[in-house]
Amino acid sequence: MFKKIINLLTFTDLPVRKKFILFSLGSLFWLAVISAIGLITMFDMSAKSKLMVDVIGPHEKTANIVVRKLRGASISAHKIVLYKDTERINNNYLNGKARLEDCRSYLKILLTGGRIKDYSRGTGQFYNEFIVLPLYDPEKRKFVEDVIVKVSNLEELLSELSEKKLSGKGEGTMLETLSEYDALTRNTVIVMNEYAISIGKEWGTFANIIKSRFNIAIVLISLAFAIAAMLSGVFGILISRSLSRPIKAIIGQIKALSAGEIDLTKKLDVASKDELGALSAEFNRLMDTIGHVTSFKKIIEEDESVEDIYMRLGRIFIDDLEFDNCVIYEVSSSKNNMKIVYPPEAEGIELHCKRDIQLDCELCRVKRTGHIVTSADYPNICKYYTESANDIHYCIPIIVGGNVGGVVQFVCGKRGVCDIDDIKRKISRAKQYITEAQPVLEAKRLMKTLKESAFKDALTGLYNRRFLEESFENIVAGILRRGTTLGLMMCDIDFFKQTNDVYGHDVGDMVLKEAADNIRKNVRTSDLVIRFGGEEFLVLLIDTKPGDSLDVAEKIRERIEDSKVKIAGGFIQKTISIGVSEFPTDTQNFWEAVKYTDVALYKAKERGRNRVVRFSAEMWADEKY
Ligand code: GH3
Ligand code: MG
Ligand code: MG
Repeated sequence: MFKKIINLLTFTDLPVRKKFILFSLGSLFWLAVISAIGLITMFDMSAKSKLMVDVIGPHEKTANIVVRKLRGASISAHKIVLYKDTERINNNYLNGKARLEDCRSYLKILLTGGRIKDYSRGTGQFYNEFIVLPLYDPEKRKFVEDVIVKVSNLEELLSELSEKKLSGKGEGTMLETLSEYDALTRNTVIVMNEYAISIGKEWGTFANIIKSRFNIAIVLISLAFAIAAMLSGVFGILISRSLSRPIKAIIGQIKALSAGEIDLTKKLDVASKDELGALSAEFNRLMDTIGHVTSFKKIIEEDESVEDIYMRLGRIFIDDLEFDNCVIYEVSSSKNNMKIVYPPEAEGIELHCKRDIQLDCELCRVKRTGHIVTSADYPNICKYYTESANDIHYCIPIIVGGNVGGVVQFVCGKRGVCDIDDIKRKISRAKQYITEAQPVLEAKRLMKTLKESAFKDALTGLYNRRFLEESFENIVAGILRRGTTLGLMMCDIDFFKQTNDVYGHDVGDMVLKEAADNIRKNVRTSDLVIRFGGEEFLVLLIDTKPGDSLDVAEKIRERIEDSKVKIAGGFIQKTISIGVSEFPTDTQNFWEAVKYTDVALYKAKERGRNRVVRFSAEMWADEKY
């Protein structure tokens, strides 16, 4: 369960490209989070600063100007009382009035918003020009409205003061009015100052807000950065590990493979569904194939005969590689023919190819060229192929001793049913097995011919004496086990020396061969015919009935007597003498039974030749032997 969650989180089962895309998207997300926090803070601070610059600043400035103007008006009021001449009094009255009007209009602008141009009423000097945004805070509006009323009152007091001064009436109450004016001015200035201070305090409040927002932003960005760094670290490690672990495992296996170790129990344990999982599965399959091919070679090396190897190859092609069918031909270069060795039951019959190729192997295109012949590229490539041209056949040579020693043929259904890519894959695997089998087949076939030549006589093709020495124990054991009889016949051509002398050795050899063939044809295939000496043949009749050997010997004698050996300018006829004994009837000792045939043969010669003599005990009792 835990592993499943980890697999899901580290995108183990996703293709490598998607893993990295998701990783990049994750990083991008955290980058966006950090940027968003930064941007929001910046916009917030910029809005706050704008408020401070656009609203608080102008309002504070206006409050200060109003205080300055009130003070100026107060000086004008005092000068009205102080001066005597009318013009100066008037001038100061107008100056003071203008200053108070300025105050009123500025205060109104504070309420409505607008442009403030600050001029000195005393000198006419231009100080400043700025825009004021309207006040929305009802408390502050009330405050400003109160001050406007106070300024109106001041205007009335100022005009009362100047009237009293100019008319000369009410001089007595003038100072009272002035002190009333001063008291109201003081009160208004104090109120205005308080207003300016309260606005000034807002600077501090905003500065604090900006500072705390800034701190929050720093904390949030640090936090997001820490989470992003931690996640990218964890994911980076997990993803890189999920990539590097299988790659390391594959490298390890390849190293072991190149060092010659093929341990099939050591499979790559990578179950992820990404490319690495697929790579590991393919690698395991490759290991299987290599392992199987290698163990196949070891097994066939220990197989007894080439026939066993053909059987094993055939079974692997059908059972493991799942070919529909397979035919293996063995080529005999000395006989110029080829025969089906797999499936064994098809020996001698026509299968997919005309039988002609079996009788003359040079007709087979693969045997003649030594190349793979397939209808996959050229449908009618081989004229000896008898199946439908729509089928696909692959014929692969087995190279033995530099020549084509065999042919493996695969035939695959009708085109369309048969998946050509699948067939090609199977063929390349089959070729691996054939390549592995070739040297083993070569060695085994060499051994077989060596053995055959060691046990066979070159002139007649019969077994030689050495074969008898090697195999008599098995023959005897079989006879004794089965409780049957072994008939022994020693055959010797009569007056053979003469033939040699009269016609020459070559004719002598022909007579020998003819006699050998005659003997072989007149016994069962299970019987053994051995060239025992120069022109002496020992025949072992396996599992005969006692007495039967004599009949067989008589038959052979007659056939040879009747047969004519063709020679230049005519023919010759020869006779044969045969001595017969039986084992274990005559003796329990095999070699003694052989000796008895020789004794009987001597008797046959003695009695005039061209006859069969059965050994009897009194022959052996004779002192002469
Ligand atoms: P018989 O057996 O009837 O007594 O007379 P024979 O003339 O056959 O006498 P023997 O068995 O002594 O002669 C054997 C001859 O066979 C001697 C040898 O020259 C000849 N011989 C042995 N091996 C071969 C062979 O391989 N080829 C040929 N051409 N002659 C052989
Ligand atoms: Mg002889
Ligand atoms: Mg002889």
